[in-house]
Amino acid sequence: MPELRINGLPSSVDVDATVLDAAELVFVEIPTLCHLKELEPEASCMLCVVKNVATGELIPACSAKAIDGMEIDTECDEVQAARRDILNLLLSEHVGDCEAPCTRICPAHLDIPLMLREIELGNMESAAWIAKRDLAIPAILGHICPAPCEKGCRRAQVDEAIPIRDLHRDGGRACSPSAPPKSGKKVAVINSGAAGLSSAWKLCQLGYTCTVFDEAPRAGGTLRDHKTLPMAVLDAELEWLAGAGIEFKLGCTISLHTISEEFDGVVFAGTESSGIHFADAFYAEEHKLAVKAVANGKAAAIALDLFLKGEAPRSGDRFDSKVGKLRESELQELLKNCATDEQAGKPATHVGHPAAAGLSAQSEAGKCLHCDCRKPVSCKLRKYADRYDADQREFPADDRGRIQLIGHNESVVFEPGKCIKCGLCVKITKRAGEELGLAFVGRGFNTQVQVPFGGKLQDGLKVVARECVEVCPTGALVFRNAEVCLYH
Ligand code: SF4
Ligand code: SF4
Ligand code: SF4
Repeated sequence: MPELRINGLPSSVDVDATVLDAAELVFVEIPTLCHLKELEPEASCMLCVVKNVATGELIPACSAKAIDGMEIDTECDEVQAARRDILNLLLSEHVGDCEAPCTRICPAHLDIPLMLREIELGNMESAAWIAKRDLAIPAILGHICPAPCEKGCRRAQVDEAIPIRDLHRDGGRACSPSAPPKSGKKVAVINSGAAGLSSAWKLCQLGYTCTVFDEAPRAGGTLRDHKTLPMAVLDAELEWLAGAGIEFKLGCTISLHTISEEFDGVVFAGTESSGIHFADAFYAEEHKLAVKAVANGKAAAIALDLFLKGEAPRSGDRFDSKVGKLRESELQELLKNCATDEQAGKPATHVGHPAAAGLSAQSEAGKCLHCDCRKPVSCKLRKYADRYDADQREFPADDRGRIQLIGHNESVVFEPGKCIKCGLCVKITKRAGEELGLAFVGRGFNTQVQVPFGGKLQDGLKVVARECVEVCPTGALVFRNAEVCLYH
């Protein structure tokens, strides 16, 4: 029975075990992209490299046999640098946006394509929930936001930008307030403008019992000064937030002493010029652009939450693969995501989709190109790009690959530009005895995963479509509507 050390921890394994098995036994995580326990290792991605201390070599942990007396280092600088290079190389060939351009531009980071998919399917309550979750006050913003997201909308290259602002303005009312489960901790938010409301709602979503204090007799702060905002809309949104469990204490001041006695934490939402300062408070700056104030409120709430949990502050920016400007042919590919020919901007040839019933919000939402990735949370490539601080521009390609969608009108979609050729789907379809399955076709750089003999995706994935989507480490194989992205 080989006995070895992983980062100094003794591990004793079976004779056939690998270094990866030995690491797992002592709870040391080694990143992998192409590994699946029950399948023969290929070491094709090489992300699992570790250092054999005795020889100084970097070896793939998934296929290197565990040898008696081995000393393995899984996280030294050399290993980290090698993993970063491996990720940068994979990303240099990678064609896809983790986030849609509209979501990137929205200061409050509304998951726009996800909301649009729900509207298009007629799931208005779920769409409203996404708008509430991300924007706190979607109906108010629907009246006063200058909609920077629409300026970045790719649909404008075809005809017009999607009316995102109108859709969250009208749709935001469709869900009833529900109070998330509480953690037992109490927090205070000082002031009830857009930043304060957003902080309070985020803290409420994170499980805190939240009280908003304001000297003014009515909540809303400077939102009440907006001439284009109907006060009934503001009042309805405040009522919704109160219904979700936020307590408002208006027309009163609160002392520092009371805060420290009664609350676990506090967010002060205001402007520098307000002259009021709370030591130890997390600060959410109000902004003349209400959507920026909402973003500031969310950020302060997240910072307070991390502080109260004893976790280190972190930047909200995740790794984000970017395609940049689309070619005409790529725009045509993304147009395949539109459910009907009418929505894609072509003369209608068929009816039957909900949007064809003349429901205009659904029809507008149906024009979305769905520029985002469907695995923004579970993608392992993104996760490790974050962890190892990868840089997609480190090895720039002379001519980047093209966006291509295969199986766009089926439930599973394949995007070759996001495939890292790990081979897991190929092995799984083979093991399951799929009639056609998936296979590597071509040679060298031109190798691609395909259904053999020019078959359709659905013909290759008759038995194990779900399994293939689940093991695919990237957004190359996805379900059309499966992943819900939970942002912080
Ligand atoms: S496959 Fe992963 S890295 Fe690529 S766009 Fe999707 S989430 Fe981002
Ligand atoms: S087409 Fe849809 S996903 Fe793409 S930028 Fe416009 S709203 Fe966003
Ligand atoms: S499509 Fe297949 S080969 Fe490509 S990354 Fe996904 S599982 Fe791996």
